Amino acid sequence: DYAAQVQQVARALLDHSGPTVVLTHENPDGDALGSVLGLTRALRELGREVYAPMTLPRYLQFLPEEGELCAPLTEWPAGALAAVLDVDSNDHVRVGGAEIAAFGGPVVNIDHHGTNQRQADTLLVDPSQPATAQMMVDVLDALEVQWTEALATPLLLGLITDTGSFQFSSTTPQTLRTGARLLEYGARLNWLNEQRMQNSPTYYILLREVLNTLEFAQGGQVVLARVDDAMLERAGANWDEVDPYVGMLRNAEGALLAVLVKDYGDRVKFSLRSRGGLSAQNIAVALGGGGHVPAAGATVEAPYAEARARLDAAVAAELERLRSQPQDRRA
Ligand code: 5GP
Ligand code: MN
Ligand code: MN
Repeated sequence: DYAAQVQQVARALLDHSGPTVVLTHENPDGDALGSVLGLTRALRELGREVYAPMTLPRYLQFLPEEGELCAPLTEWPAGALAAVLDVDSNDHVRVGGAEIAAFGGPVVNIDHHGTNQRQADTLLVDPSQPATAQMMVDVLDALEVQWTEALATPLLLGLITDTGSFQFSSTTPQTLRTGARLLEYGARLNWLNEQRMQNSPTYYILLREVLNTLEFAQGGQVVLARVDDAMLERAGANWDEVDPYVGMLRNAEGALLAVLVKDYGDRVKFSLRSRGGLSAQNIAVALGGGGHVPAAGATVEAPYAEARARLDAAVAAELERLRSQPQDRRA
């Protein structure tokens, strides 16, 4: 069960005397960064050697201290353990050019994706958890860390990121209790929000471009917008600034699904957000991706027109599944 898995993970981390490489998914979000910093800081407090190779989008760069994160590793340190956080599949994890599949050492995976592939030696995987950071609080308790603001602030960032600041249905009494504890340890809630919510002028200029592509499909049940390199260039913006748009689209009245299309030309990334019983995860999985029921994503290796046709088919299938379901099962 969950408590036993927490103990196993803590033991795997404590029993390992060599370096620990802490990894997360590409294009990390606040939960990924918060979980990485929480574990990295805790293990360093315990005297461990830790590598945390990570490249951050601009809106998260305010949080780490100088030197806490490192550039991608060109090789695995001798005798390393890999702690893979907020990641559902080893396919997503790279250290420099090296796939984790080529890593011979032990792997610990802490994650809450419904699509977790359970590939690690030691697993703490629970899709009912709202954030990896929530699980990391339990792991740090099991490591018997001395709680400080430096541990609490990044983990609170993880919680508020993945719960939409305690608004999503994944928020439980336990989530709020954990949030309250982190505040008691000194977590800087207002500072986090002040820092991460600042949008550059180009964010708004790009938003104007992106809203020009707005579509309401399936009788308004699907809202979709697209961004490509030409729009970024006209706005003077970069891909870092695009991620929050889908959260704004998901508030469209009557929409069950919001889609942000990142059109890279030869391939397309779909960011999907759903509600009302529709599963973004089902759609993402149909397209070869993954994630959570309300928030998922997939990359399709095809130009937009072809990728869009595949998306439309997956959306139609998921809408049909929802229609054929008994009314009282709908969230
Ligand atoms: P986002 O749309 O913010 O990139 O991702 C939403 C959720 O879906 C995140 O939990 C993320 O890990 C997951 N996700 C996004 N893209 C992919 C993908 O290509 N494959 C998998 N397995 N999960 C993804
Ligand atoms: Mn994440
Ligand atoms: Mn997460």
